[in-house]
Amino acid sequence: MDEAHLKRIIRELENVRGTGTQLISLYIPPKYPRGDIMSMLTDEHSKAGNIKDKATRKNVQAALAKIMGYLKAIDYKLPENGLVIFCGNVSPRPGEQDIRLFAVAPPRPVSKIYRCDSTFYLDPLREMVKPTEYYGVIAMDGKEATIAVIKGNVFEIAARIRSLAPGKHHAGGQSARRFERLREIADHEYMKKVAEEAKEVFLELEDKLKGIILAGPGPKKNEFYNKEYLDPRLRQKIVGIVDTGYTNEYGIREAIENAQEILRDAEIVRQKKAVDRFIGEVVKGGLAEYGPSNVYRALKEGRVDTLLIVEDLKAWLGKYTCPECGHEDEKVHMDEKNLKKPVKCQACGAEMDLKATLDAVEEMLRLAEDTGATVFFISSDTEEGQKMAKGFGGVGAILRYGL
Ligand SMILES: [Zn+2]
Repeated sequence: MDEAHLKRIIRELENVRGTGTQLISLYIPPKYPRGDIMSMLTDEHSKAGNIKDKATRKNVQAALAKIMGYLKAIDYKLPENGLVIFCGNVSPRPGEQDIRLFAVAPPRPVSKIYRCDSTFYLDPLREMVKPTEYYGVIAMDGKEATIAVIKGNVFEIAARIRSLAPGKHHAGGQSARRFERLREIADHEYMKKVAEEAKEVFLELEDKLKGIILAGPGPKKNEFYNKEYLDPRLRQKIVGIVDTGYTNEYGIREAIENAQEILRDAEIVRQKKAVDRFIGEVVKGGLAEYGPSNVYRALKEGRVDTLLIVEDLKAWLGKYTCPECGHEDEKVHMDEKNLKKPVKCQACGAEMDLKATLDAVEEMLRLAEDTGATVFFISSDTEEGQKMAKGFGGVGAILRYGL
């Protein structure tokens, strides 16, 4: 399971709430003996018999039975890094039972954990999707500075600093020399402050900080660099000095754009390039598909090279069967309500029955994994994410070949 897929599952599961402590999280390490897990589950099942609240008791026991059933069904074949199972009653209405099981093949080996709680225990999986690389950006001129951290595919503003130095031209009253002196002092204080804030933000990232970009209009950034305001441990991490028009959040965007070559291995840049390439293909009517239905079909045909999905995209895959002739069909819907709308059989024209509903995004991610497509999960907080959501139904694909 790739990282994008895992991130999505974590987001889904963290919203599940059980009434009382009845959601089970089970982490099984690789090659863990079958007998040990099964006897532990049998044990927990009988212990759960002592739970006072009747509904909770029923739900916990049903979840444990479901887990045992699942492990038998897969004949206890554990993926190479072990297996993580989440199971419990997800019905939001008290008294109702809707026991669901989610199985995750972790990207790194897991240790054994068994928890029964009101939420699923996701911390070990969260650790696995944390960015391992960060970049810093300082966009500054003589008046203000913005410090940002690039974390995976997004950046966050960490600090803003304003200079208290007055403008270059002094109003009458004091002598020009005295004015100039005061301005220099304030300017020096400002640069010291930028360096202090940078230290605060960047030093704690330690070795994970791969580089710092200095940006901004005019020569202030170079002066800041040349006069060695920055802590030497950070100064040696400066990988580029680029010009931008702004020093605010927009300046940070510009810096990332203008430092693309320097940051070419950073996820945020790889993602931006993929989106640009996708849009380029769409514009020239080339190797691109977009919208959940079209992309789903292209994935099924194994034509997708790169899949671009907005992180919070929701879509449903309805599986239909014709009661008259047995013909089967499937349809992707962006609105859950459309699942209920009648679908005509392509073979005989009769109205088809909805047999199953699947999470279309999950299905797309699964197909991408099976066909070796590269997946970019695009945060809707980014400009690229907004472009994908507004213009392309939240999902696009760069194709390997046309039809
Ligand atoms: Zn039919």
